[in-house]
Amino acid sequence: MIKTDILIIGAGPTGLFTVFEAGLLQLKCHLIDALPQPGGQCAELYPKKPIYDIPGFPEVLAGDLVDNLMEQIKSFEPGFTLAERAETIEKLEDDTFLVTTNKGTQHNAPIVAIAGGLGSFEPRKPPIPNIANFEDKGVAYMVKDPEVYRNKKVIIAGGGDSALDWSIFLADVAEEVTLVHRRNEFRGALDSVEKVKELKDLGKINLITPGEVDGLQADENGHLASVIIKKKSEATEEIQLEVDHFIPLFGLSPKLGPIADWGLEIEKNAIKVDNALDYQTNIPGVYAIGDVNTYPGKLKLILCGFHEATLMCQSAYKKIYPDKKYVMKYTTVGGVTGFDGTKK
Ligand code: FAD
Repeated sequence: MIKTDILIIGAGPTGLFTVFEAGLLQLKCHLIDALPQPGGQCAELYPKKPIYDIPGFPEVLAGDLVDNLMEQIKSFEPGFTLAERAETIEKLEDDTFLVTTNKGTQHNAPIVAIAGGLGSFEPRKPPIPNIANFEDKGVAYMVKDPEVYRNKKVIIAGGGDSALDWSIFLADVAEEVTLVHRRNEFRGALDSVEKVKELKDLGKINLITPGEVDGLQADENGHLASVIIKKKSEATEEIQLEVDHFIPLFGLSPKLGPIADWGLEIEKNAIKVDNALDYQTNIPGVYAIGDVNTYPGKLKLILCGFHEATLMCQSAYKKIYPDKKYVMKYTTVGGVTGFDGTKK
């Protein structure tokens, strides 16, 4: 079981900055995120888009902001449980919380900070009736570790940036890459479309458009063995292809998900908090910060998440150490321990 002071659900910008603010108070943090990488919406939805309203940065790419936040918290050595969704919460007899993920990983902490943004990003799945039987047996909806596909036969479906980018990347890793899209035109960046066409001409990507994966077949162990593709030309043609992996990349849709069943007060798909005080929810010890919360005048902005994280950590410190007197100090003056690991 993973034990920490503050268990943060969601490794978006709000969750990451919480680690820094907690670290200044010498509180340890562990983060859980359903995505395989930290950064939340910034990393998943718009890493190459500039942001103009982060104080002190006239312009910063969302992906670079995430890299900077990771650098800023490095010395506090936060723990990460990635590619797992926080599923259940239980209050234990000692007043701490036990949070278990969909993969069964257990986390224990006196404070839970929900920084879940728009909710966990759930993959959009293609309507193939038996697809659930193949999850973790050849079918994956996101690429967590490209090495899994080394020297394998891979089929990717989709027409956006993820499908194009991973087809290009895996062309050098996998034995065979097939990209299937139901239209002839792709939605992704033009240079990626051009690159895919180049790789097709070089025989490194097998491109099937317009087409759709319509059926999946198993080997004797229940692992994916082949797919049936419907290629639409004048007459629909059925192609059977032997593959090891099928990766449908049809985007992710955010859902508040299991957190909605944790007994929290919810209003319009967001968690109600006490913003006059410390962003605590109706469950003492459970806070909600960043895009996931709501209160009068709420703005879903990164800098608001940073502010909420800061006040929340002060309150968490008082809860964990009710008898200790904490005097707030600036990171630039004496007495603050930890932001670079040394006593200042
Ligand atoms: P998120 O970034 O949404 O991160 C939440 C994380 O929690 C996600 O990674 C999710 O997977 C995880 N999660 C949720 N539930 C669970 C669970 N049960 N288990 C495990 N993990 C879970 N804001 C600005 O301030 N300036 C801008 O210029 C700006 N531009 C934007 C442009 C676009 C296109 C978009 C989409 C948003 C923009 N925003 C901007 C908004 C900004 O991205 C959000 O305010 C910010 O990402 C909120 O951060 P967060 O950490 O609260 O949540």
